[in-house]
Amino acid sequence: MSAAVIDGRAAAARLRARVAAEARGAGIVPGLTVVIVGDDPASRVYVRNKTKAAATAGFRETTIALPAETSEPALLQVIARLNADDAVDGILVQLPLPKHIRTQAVIEALDPAKDVDGLHPLNAGHLAGGHPRLVPCTPKGVMTLLAEAGVALAGARAVVLGRSTLVGRPVAALLTGADATVTLAHSRTRDLAAECRRAEVLVVAVGRAELVRGDWIAEGATVIDVGINRRADGRLVGDVAFAEAAERAAWITPVPGGVGPMTIASLLENTLIAAKARRGFA
Ligand code: NAD
Repeated sequence: MSAAVIDGRAAAARLRARVAAEARGAGIVPGLTVVIVGDDPASRVYVRNKTKAAATAGFRETTIALPAETSEPALLQVIARLNADDAVDGILVQLPLPKHIRTQAVIEALDPAKDVDGLHPLNAGHLAGGHPRLVPCTPKGVMTLLAEAGVALAGARAVVLGRSTLVGRPVAALLTGADATVTLAHSRTRDLAAECRRAEVLVVAVGRAELVRGDWIAEGATVIDVGINRRADGRLVGDVAFAEAAERAAWITPVPGGVGPMTIASLLENTLIAAKARRGFA
């Protein structure tokens, strides 16, 4: 079998256009504020891409760039000010933060209603309880891609590789909510290859270049590769050996051009959800 490639760029463009049209139709201009601490080049690129997409969608976007030596109390003050600012619908604190700042303390300081990254414990709790509100952007993008590909999830055997709070755990919760039978595998899982081979839907979020080989894939499986790894030669690759896996899968996402673009589109979707909820829309 040669897999059909799920085009994340096209899906993301459609989602961004739909979100922009919905905001316009509702007569609202959602406000997104991104906070970045320090000058990590990759983080700066991510932030620029996010705010550019927000502006293109007609959102009000602001970036607050703070120096790397910003103290935790000073950052918490900024968050408190944004929480209280009625013009701000969504707050995104770009991660990772400098080591001297406790990430969890910052996440917990966010107004959960403005937590468009879906990382606040209240939002994580709603998701774990099966009543998702603001859901982390990358997992949300994974689910949109599965829906785009028309993959039937109810009753399907799904394996999620990686159990981070940012990706693996929320993906597992969303798949459970969609009635899949979910296995959450990780670095301590015995015989990872055998677990993967059982998967009708395989979502991989580990951060190890091409860890998942072609013979780990069941014939006809759907493979969603969240990983982004830069090889020594500068090439970006996923956590799945794409060419090998595509021989056996029915559907597969590429890297780049798969899940990556969906993360930003989902951020806009979350910002619109937050904006509507704060304005009392159903
Ligand atoms: P993380 O480091 O927080 O978590 C990795 C998980 O993988 C852990 O749960 C760990 O148990 C598991 N793991 C590590 N080594 C393993 C192994 N050898 N076998 C099985 N499991 C193993 O990473 P993360 O934040 O979840 O990100 C994972 C990958 O996804 C990274 O490559 C990251 O760059 C990428 N990512 C992409 C996007 C996107 O927008 N496409 C967003 C977030 C993360």
